[in-house]
Amino acid sequence: MDNPLFGLTAKIAVVTGGNGGIGLGMARGLAAAGATIVIVGRDEAKSAAAVAEIMQQGGKAIALAADVTDKAAIATVVADIQRQFGRIDILVNNAGINIRKPPDALTIEEWNAVIGTNLTSAFLCSQAVYPSMKAGGGGKIINIGSMLSIFGAGLASAYAASKGGIVQFTRSCAMAWAPDNIQVNAILPGWIDTEMTRRARIDIPGLHDRVLARTPAARWGAATDFAGTAVFLASSASDFITGTAIPVDGGFSISG
Ligand code: NDP
Repeated sequence: MDNPLFGLTAKIAVVTGGNGGIGLGMARGLAAAGATIVIVGRDEAKSAAAVAEIMQQGGKAIALAADVTDKAAIATVVADIQRQFGRIDILVNNAGINIRKPPDALTIEEWNAVIGTNLTSAFLCSQAVYPSMKAGGGGKIINIGSMLSIFGAGLASAYAASKGGIVQFTRSCAMAWAPDNIQVNAILPGWIDTEMTRRARIDIPGLHDRVLARTPAARWGAATDFAGTAVFLASSASDFITGTAIPVDGGFSISG
């Protein structure tokens, strides 16, 4: 039965990068709360597997292939969703990449790839869904930041710039669209076990243990840890919350 505070029945939720990792963790949660999920990613096989998994759990989902750095591709996706469902209620800007290099070694192409995927995509997707949300009387946008929205890291200057930017973009959209009843918030994940960090744990000696030592919860996060916060920020339970950035990090950001 639909919980009046947290229920998402009849809501259409777009999750970029929803075919794996944190994105799929949020997509599973939103689907379990009743939303129909639209997974947007480039890897069609991965997206098809994620859709199959959500449907097997009794949820509703489709996948639309697109590169979130491509404005025209995003416009096509939004038009397709409008045609199929006639509305967009929830957007999760989750797609992201990292390129690990010191700033003196980073090429302009690498800088642009990271900023484009992590930050510009959120601008493009938010702008593209805004007319649907406004026409529908409101909406929820959830942007995915990082601990590097707060801290610096020598090997992740473009990534940190994109994730710092996500928080300021979140606040600015929250200001702009509050009169349209659109709430815009960010989630800042701590260290989470996904494809992205599996590579980092191989490349950076000692990373695994350093994260464990600094995280009060004494574990790495899992994709499942994001379902609850995503449902909260997508549901009417958070209608008076906008422009915030909520760490989901087992306490990493409050630990010295
Ligand atoms: P994954 O690598 O598992 O997932 C990244 C997702 O982004 C993939 O589903 C990928 O789908 C999608 N994606 C990447 N580039 C594009 C693109 N150009 N167009 C469309 N989709 C794209 O990583 P995580 O789950 O770990 O990361 C998810 C988000 O969480 C990212 O924004 C990341 O920065 C953030 N984050 C992760 C942390 C962690 O510890 N894991 C910590 C802090 C933040 P496809 O390949 O199909 O395109």
